[in-house]
Amino acid sequence: MEMAGLPYIVGNWKMNGTRAMLNEARAIDRAAARFPKVQVAVAPPATLIYRTRDAAAIIGVGGQDCHAEESGAFTGDISAQMLKDAGADFTIVGHSERRTLHGESDADVKAKAEAALGAGLGVILCVGETESQRDAGEAETVVGAQLEGSCPRVDGAPEKLSVAYEPVWAIGTGRVPSVEDVAAMHKAIRAKLVALYGEGGADVRILYGGSVKADNAAELLAVPEVGGALVGGASLSAESFLAIVGAAASLDAD
Ligand code: PEP
Repeated sequence: MEMAGLPYIVGNWKMNGTRAMLNEARAIDRAAARFPKVQVAVAPPATLIYRTRDAAAIIGVGGQDCHAEESGAFTGDISAQMLKDAGADFTIVGHSERRTLHGESDADVKAKAEAALGAGLGVILCVGETESQRDAGEAETVVGAQLEGSCPRVDGAPEKLSVAYEPVWAIGTGRVPSVEDVAAMHKAIRAKLVALYGEGGADVRILYGGSVKADNAAELLAVPEVGGALVGGASLSAESFLAIVGAAASLDAD
């Protein structure tokens, strides 16, 4: 489902949730019907994708990662085709926890993004600098290089691509960059996407992620070139996630 102009609010549940979490998915889905001007999605753990799709009618459902190959001897991995078969509409790739804890390179992330597009999935590609990179004044260079190295260059790109700017130091920490820093980075990302894709790069949604909560969502979502949010911790309960969806909806009403 492509709804390019609408704010896109995506919950990343990470390695959280057993079947009891389906109640949260149902509550999010029911409420999403009240916010037709917001595109809402969740990325549950792979074990819950099928059941989440089954329990939810409206929201998008996605994976948190995929393997670049379609099938084979890759114990523990899940292909993009498998995600699609389980009912996923999209997948996240290149999350900093994958890059750091699983040693994923830009080339790995690019291959995953291309595999996901090839399987007909949307892609949310994550980029972001570490705190020491920001302190060294290298944030835009680092993110530019990540985009250069990990953006997919196949059919489906960039129409089905979103980029999530997630400063590593803001993930799960309660710290967020200033509105000015978010604006500057999103502007730089836009310029890079246009350089990479031409005109199509102007329409790629750029999400902000990193400690988005109900009380800072409106301010962050109002920043130019912020087309939505990727939300970790605050997406684990329907109540806190829906407060962010509500902030996106009221922004649209302004
Ligand atoms: C994330 O990991 O994608 C994320 C944004 O996490 P949090 O909202 O918990 O900082």
